[in-house]
Amino acid sequence: MYDISKRHHALRLLEQGLTVSEVSRRTGISRYALREWRLRVDQGRDLYAVRSSHCPRCSGVPRKPEHPRAYAYLLGLYLGDGCISPVGDPAKKIWALRISCANSWPGIMRECAEAVHAIRPDNKIRFIPCTGCTEVNSHSKHWPCLFPQHGPGKKHQRKIELETWQQEIVDEFAEAFVRGLIHSDGCRVMNRVRRPCRDGDRWYEYPRYNFTNVSMDIQRLFTDALDRLGVQWTQMNRKNISVARREAVARLDEFVGPKY
Ligand SMILES: [Zn+2]
Repeated sequence: MYDISKRHHALRLLEQGLTVSEVSRRTGISRYALREWRLRVDQGRDLYAVRSSHCPRCSGVPRKPEHPRAYAYLLGLYLGDGCISPVGDPAKKIWALRISCANSWPGIMRECAEAVHAIRPDNKIRFIPCTGCTEVNSHSKHWPCLFPQHGPGKKHQRKIELETWQQEIVDEFAEAFVRGLIHSDGCRVMNRVRRPCRDGDRWYEYPRYNFTNVSMDIQRLFTDALDRLGVQWTQMNRKNISVARREAVARLDEFVGPKY
């Protein structure tokens, strides 16, 4: 896991002209990670120089994406089941946003594609079949501008922090953000409980929500949003957050509900 200060230190060494191998030896950071960080920095500079007015983040004055509700939802999906990776020759600086959607939930797959379209309307969306799921895939030079959490390695092995503009969107559209997180890494399940009675056992069913993610940072973003919405939650274990109280489940049902 590389923290932000270590990363800045490494990038400064690269800027001073040290080679990737030298910086890797000095800092213990993998060469793969260093190359990808440098690529990202270069990409940001190039894009800034051309000032693509089609990108809200690297145009002259950075602004928020036009459809903040769709953005909050897509950010939730991305943090749950998404990744950003270079397409083809890294020098071309084209990136794929890839969100893995279970085939069992065609409605969620559609909603995901709609959110991608709202954020990058000019980029084609592809549906790539995988085992048991479909990858919603879209190419753009600007995914790292829009999702600066992108970085080498798995999300739970690096620090995931929102930038100020993202946090503002998440605060304002907390429901959409939570919906995205639950659609990717959560579920609504029925608990069955048996209660013994005089005339035999009775079964009771009640719904609850589970959210499973190994990144403590992502768990925290989820529970912060729940707090903001006044939804009570419980940390079940290291990986799982549960929402089980009747009024909390009812509140989530207002804007999440069962997968579809
Ligand atoms: Zn951009």
